[in-house]
Amino acid sequence: MKIDMHSHFFPRITQGEAAALHATHAPWLHAPEGAKKGQIMRGPDPFRPVYDALWDPHARIEEMDAQGVDIQVTCATPIMFGYEYDAEPVAVWAQRMNDLALEFCAPYAKRLVPLAQVPLQNVDLACKVASQAKADGHYGVQIGNHLGDKDLDDEGLVTFLQHCAENHIPLLVHPWDMMGGNRMKKWMLPWLVAMPAETQLGILSLILSGAFERIPESLRICFAHGGGAFAFLLGRVDNAWQHRDIIRQDCPRRPSEYVKRFHVDSAVFDPGALKLLVDVMGVEQVMLGSDYPFPLGEQQIGHLVASQDWLNTKEKDQIYAQNAIEFFGLQALVKV
Ligand SMILES: [Zn+2]
Repeated sequence: MKIDMHSHFFPRITQGEAAALHATHAPWLHAPEGAKKGQIMRGPDPFRPVYDALWDPHARIEEMDAQGVDIQVTCATPIMFGYEYDAEPVAVWAQRMNDLALEFCAPYAKRLVPLAQVPLQNVDLACKVASQAKADGHYGVQIGNHLGDKDLDDEGLVTFLQHCAENHIPLLVHPWDMMGGNRMKKWMLPWLVAMPAETQLGILSLILSGAFERIPESLRICFAHGGGAFAFLLGRVDNAWQHRDIIRQDCPRRPSEYVKRFHVDSAVFDPGALKLLVDVMGVEQVMLGSDYPFPLGEQQIGHLVASQDWLNTKEKDQIYAQNAIEFFGLQALVKV
């Protein structure tokens, strides 16, 4: 069984429909009826070329069948978050996108598993939309790793995480709105340099602030892209914690003691990186995730895991399916 827990969708919303979010800069999809290729737009500007598996569930299932993927967890493309706008219209927008996600998954309810989005800029609304989404049939929520200058240790964001822990709502944290600004204008540097750093920042915000001490251990939280730079830099963080009291001031335990508090996906594209990730996180904390259907995702979903002979059959099965079944509560979908 193969469950890909990191994939995206984007509904076919027109520029006119998206104007409810923002008159000139809202994201929408330029994909005429029947077209195989399309373009995510931001206002009048092209943002990313895409193809029909992003919006057409039938095209997606065809590809999943061809790749031997049984179940795919799918969530918004981060440009859809709307965190930069007023919370109230974004709550309406999030509800609409969540409904469209349910619609996208409905024809294949046992194979396409939706995650919701929330208006994270307002904690009360975010909690409300998350709970509503769960009641409506979403299996969890995807959030961005930060909210402008606020990282995951922000009091409001911690309250949201506590809400998700108490209400058994699994979370996928996705990097977005990348740091670096004008220094990363070319060569997709925001995706190659800033994204892994954003994810590292998200994880360290929870560890070093002591937020994990205040959030129930029942929280199921997963960081995308193998947790970004985290696994490779954990030794550096532990060493710093050991030798500088300003790093210990809010964080009572050695940072590496917190790795059991979160999961990561397997989207690291390199055998050595996957080995390090499994060594650092433990095999039960790593889930197959491809970042489908984008060019920076794993093009042969699960190939990296499948081709590692240092992973035994049971460990591969954990990464492929068992960990995600537990994490998202997919038991009912996989019963024969
Ligand atoms: Zn992604």
